Amino acid sequence: MNHLHLSSFATERDLRLAIIEAGRICYSSGLMHANTGNISVRLGNDRVVITPSKLCKGRMDADDLLIIDMEGAIIKSDSVRKRKFSSEGPMHLEIYHQLPDVRAVIHAHPINATALSVAGIPFPDDVLQEVMEELGPVPTTGFSMPDPQSAAEAIRAHVKNHNAIIIRNHGAITYGHDLEHALNYLELLESVAKTVVTAQTLGGVSRIPAEIMSVLRETYSKKHS
Ligand SMILES: [Zn+2]
Repeated sequence: MNHLHLSSFATERDLRLAIIEAGRICYSSGLMHANTGNISVRLGNDRVVITPSKLCKGRMDADDLLIIDMEGAIIKSDSVRKRKFSSEGPMHLEIYHQLPDVRAVIHAHPINATALSVAGIPFPDDVLQEVMEELGPVPTTGFSMPDPQSAAEAIRAHVKNHNAIIIRNHGAITYGHDLEHALNYLELLESVAKTVVTAQTLGGVSRIPAEIMSVLRETYSKKHS
């Protein structure tokens, strides 16, 4: 069974399994490394199931996950494992507070998308059609202090009207109606970034002509207005 399409009103157990499944995909496809990244889904309207800090997302099981309230207080965790709320959790809550329709969030450190921000290159929306057809424009935040509230503040102004944000010299965060959408956006983001980085090593990046871009942008804004 693919759990990634499940809504927030599925059972807690199934939503836990959805996160485990997403974690294994992110880790095995190289989108997450070591203990990095975090994944969450809304549970009903006022709780969130989220991965804990300092744990490889490819090697978790359902009892490793935490249930938190919308302020980040832990409501439920395994009493033996004593998992902790990640310092990156407030970024997830920032998105849930701003966008009631968002039911799933993934934060990762995908190498190529992150490399663009390390190189000071904005994520281009005019290199591959799929950006304006599916992913939408992707903003890059400024630098932030390494504390939970600063990370949430760094993405604050960019959350609305986007599906993905690159966090400067850090990673990316993607979100959608369910984990399937959030994961798709993360995969698209990284595949476009990888194509850009590869093209750069082959001699340069060519852009989609302006007249085609204006059609793509118009179609995108009609679809999302
Ligand atoms: Zn991170």
